[in-house]
Amino acid sequence: MEHDPFGTFIDLIKFDQETISLDKKIKKSLDELQQFEDKKKGIEDALQAVHEQMVQARKTVDEKELEMQTLDAREKDQKNHLDNATNQKEYESATSEITTLKQQQMDLEEGLIAAWNKLESAKKAHAHKKAAAEEEIKEVVELIEQKEKEIKEAQATVETRDASRDDKQKGVPEEWLERYKVMRGRVTNPVVPVVDGISCGGCFYIISPQDMSRLEKKALVQCKACYRLIYMKQKGSE
Ligand SMILES: [Zn+2]
Repeated sequence: MEHDPFGTFIDLIKFDQETISLDKKIKKSLDELQQFEDKKKGIEDALQAVHEQMVQARKTVDEKELEMQTLDAREKDQKNHLDNATNQKEYESATSEITTLKQQQMDLEEGLIAAWNKLESAKKAHAHKKAAAEEEIKEVVELIEQKEKEIKEAQATVETRDASRDDKQKGVPEEWLERYKVMRGRVTNPVVPVVDGISCGGCFYIISPQDMSRLEKKALVQCKACYRLIYMKQKGSE
C-alpha cells in the first residue's frame, strides 16, 4: 500500500470521532439506566407504603383486642365480687362496676369492628398493589438488564478501540499529531474539511488563496479564525 500520511490522518480523526460518539451513546445509556432504576425504586416505595398501612391496621386491631380482653377480665373479676358480696355496699359497688364495664365493651366493640374493616380493605389494597407492582417491576428489570448489557458491550468496544488507536497514528507526521492533540482538547471537531471550495468547515472563515494552494497540495492548514485544522477532501473520496 502506498504511504499516505494524509489519508491515515483523516482516518485517525474519523476513528476518534466514532469513539467520541460511542462515548456519548454510553453516557446517554447510563442516564437512561438511572431513570429505570429510579422508576423501579418508585414502584417499590409505593408498594412499601401500602404494606405499611396494612401493618398499622393490624396493629390497631391487636391493640383493641387486647383492650377488650382486659375489659373481659375485669368484668369476670367484678362478677366474682358480686357472687361473693357479703353486704349491700359490696353488692352495689360490683353492680355499678359491671354496668360501666359493659358500656365500655360496647363502645370498644364498635371501634374494633371499624378496625377490622380497615384491616380488610388494607389487605385487599396491598394484594392488588402487589400484583400490579410485581408486573411493573418485572418489566423495568428487563429494561435495566438490557440497558446494562448494551452499556457493557459499548464499553468493551471503546476499550478495544482505545487499545488499537496507537496503530492508527502510525505514519502520521508527529507535528500533525501534536497540533491535533492541542485542538482535540478545545473543540469536538478539531479537524474539518474545506466547504464550498473556499471556507473553513468549522467556522466558515474564508481561506486565503495561499492556504488554498497549500491545501490543494495535500497540506494541512490551520484556520486563522478558529484554529481548527483544515484539509481538502480528495477527489473521488466520499
Ligand atoms: Zn475556522
